[in-house]
Parts: sequence; structure tokens; C-alpha cells
Amino acid sequence: MKESDKVLTVLTRELGVISIYAKGAMRLKNKFHSSTGVFTYSEFVVFEGRGDRMYQLNEAVVKKVFYNLSDSVENIALAMYMSELVCEAVVPDEASNDILRLFLNCLHMLCQGRWSLLMTKAAFEMRLMSDIGFRPNVAGCKRCNEYQKDMFYFDAEGGHLVCPDCAKGYDAGYFVCEPPVTLALRYFALADLEQMFSFRLKGGSLVQLSAICERYILNRTKDSYKTLDFLKPLTEPLIMAEINSVKGN
Ligand SMILES: [Zn+2]
Repeated sequence: MKESDKVLTVLTRELGVISIYAKGAMRLKNKFHSSTGVFTYSEFVVFEGRGDRMYQLNEAVVKKVFYNLSDSVENIALAMYMSELVCEAVVPDEASNDILRLFLNCLHMLCQGRWSLLMTKAAFEMRLMSDIGFRPNVAGCKRCNEYQKDMFYFDAEGGHLVCPDCAKGYDAGYFVCEPPVTLALRYFALADLEQMFSFRLKGGSLVQLSAICERYILNRTKDSYKTLDFLKPLTEPLIMAEINSVKGN
């Protein structure tokens, strides 16, 4: 491989995450240059046969570039983290249309400013887990099935809700869910994708939701992500701003 060539890691609709060899794509004048940019949504025609699950790029058309993603280091950091999660979670050779749609829609919501970074992150984490077979049970209390309560606990180990009546004391893995947080979890885990994107949350509830979704994904996948270590300190001012926004009202 030459310095001007690229190996892309691509989330595809049909084949999960694959590697594509793009000859000369590093060169500005190369026909593949723009379609192979990071976080670009493109249509590719590829050939098999390079071995090691590596495809060769033959044709490419740009479908969508998320221009204002690079305006903010926080947004880039989130997109990197989302990518690492996908590489960890998506099984090769398996259709991943839902995950591709989730990824594209989350980037869209973020870049349009329709969702805050914390909202986008929490939604992506919880929906991704749900789509790959770790959908938590957030319909009602796991033990008594009651679904309308002033408060639940989310058990991040078990991936379910418990009501205070059924919870035998407080457990270290429990997160308090007030009604807006419970509702958010239901939207993320159970609603149609379009419905999910109509949901909004702010303030302390969003901070709590954010903590829950992150804990859940770390419990279910692995303990740490390099991209999350980078993202975390960047989210601290955003968390403080959410908390203060409620105090100010
Ligand atoms: Zn109960």
C-alpha cells in the first residue's frame, strides 16, 4: 500500500462494518477523496478479493457530508465514540440497516442543533444496545409489572426497572428514574426511530439519563473506550450547564 492510499472502516447497510481499500484517496485530486472523508455517508461499489475481509473501492458517490460536525471538538469526539461503539458492537456480515439509520439520524440531530450532545450520546447508547439484542426492560417494574409510578430505579446490571415498593432497599447499581427519565428510556428502547427523534430532555433529568445510558453500555460491552476517555472531560461543562439551567429557572 502507498502513502496516498487509504483503508476505510465503513459501516454498511448490508455487511456490517467492513474495511475498504481506496487507491490514491489521500490525494486531493483523487476521485475518491471527498467520498472517503471521515463521517461521510457515501454509496460505494466495491470488489471482493483482497483477502482478510478487505474490499477494493471501485466507484463512490457522496450522499451526505456532515459539514458542521467539525465545528466543535465535542461533536467530533462524540462521533468518534459512536464509531468505536459500532465497531465493538456490530457483527461482521450481518445487515445493520437499523444501526446505520440510527448513526446517520443522530449525526443529523447533533449537527442541526436539534439535540444537545448529551441527548445524542444517551439516545445513541441506549438505542444501539437495544438494536443489538440488549434491549432493557423499561416497560414497568420487573417484579410487580406496575408501569405508572412516581419513581423507579433502573438496575443497570440487570437492565430493568424496579419500583421502590419491590426494591428491597437501595442497591449500588440502582439509578433513580423520575418520570421524565423513565419516559426517555422508553422512547429510546421501545419507540419507532422517527418517534424517538421527536423526544427532548433537559436539565437534571438529562444528566441522570446520560449517566444511566453510559453505565448500561459499559456494563453490557466493555469497561472502557479510548474515545470515551477523550470525550468525558469535554462533557463536564455541558453537564454543569444543564444543572445550572434548571437552577436559573
Ligand atoms: Zn414493583
